[in-house]
Amino acid sequence: MRMVIGLTGGIASGKSTVSSMLSELGAVVIDADQIAREVVKPGEPTLEAIVDQFGIEVIQRNGHLDREKLGSMIFHDAQKRSALNGIIHPAIRERMTERKRQAQERDEDLIVLDIPLLFESELTYLVEKILVVYVPEDIQKQRLMQRDEIDEHTALAKMESQMSIEEKKDKGHAYIDNSGTREETKTQLLKILQTWGYVNNDETKS
Ligand code: ADP
Repeated sequence: MRMVIGLTGGIASGKSTVSSMLSELGAVVIDADQIAREVVKPGEPTLEAIVDQFGIEVIQRNGHLDREKLGSMIFHDAQKRSALNGIIHPAIRERMTERKRQAQERDEDLIVLDIPLLFESELTYLVEKILVVYVPEDIQKQRLMQRDEIDEHTALAKMESQMSIEEKKDKGHAYIDNSGTREETKTQLLKILQTWGYVNNDETKS
């Protein structure tokens, strides 16, 4: 059965890990973070709109966006921050919609939209089923500290800037508890796909 799945979770809960597993199963994965980087590349209308709003000083000599400078301009200014989001968010949304449409036209069976802030950005309308990658907060904190080589304080600040993972867990159609081994995560994933009626010839048929 064809379906469009929204993959989400908290920071360092294991979205990338599950998204790789889905790719291996043959899914087309459309990655919101990657698209967010794409839409501000030189030559993109979104980059021009940012320059119109924030000035040419947000462009580096090589033509690329100076993220640090832009970040410091919006950091203490809620109005500027929302102006920037007003430029970037629609661009990401449009490109994700376009990629999804292209995949549907190619008759892809399993289309996955990997969107860390699926709930926060109110993008649930883009998908049919929502899969949340969950870990308890203490494990989330540990893995985040380890992966990003940051201290506990910084890790907690990052976690607190998002909707809590406990809340996300119950907002999807299903969740994977990624606190065990990767193998256990894969087993849960296959089971959920089966429940949703998606059967992959190689791995889930038995
Ligand atoms: P996200 O994409 O949600 O931010 P990642 O997939 O990068 O999260 O996972 C966060 C960190 O935890 C990574 O360093 C990853 O290698 C590690 N990790 C993910 N799943 C597991 C697991 N089941 N067991 C141990 N470590 C894991």
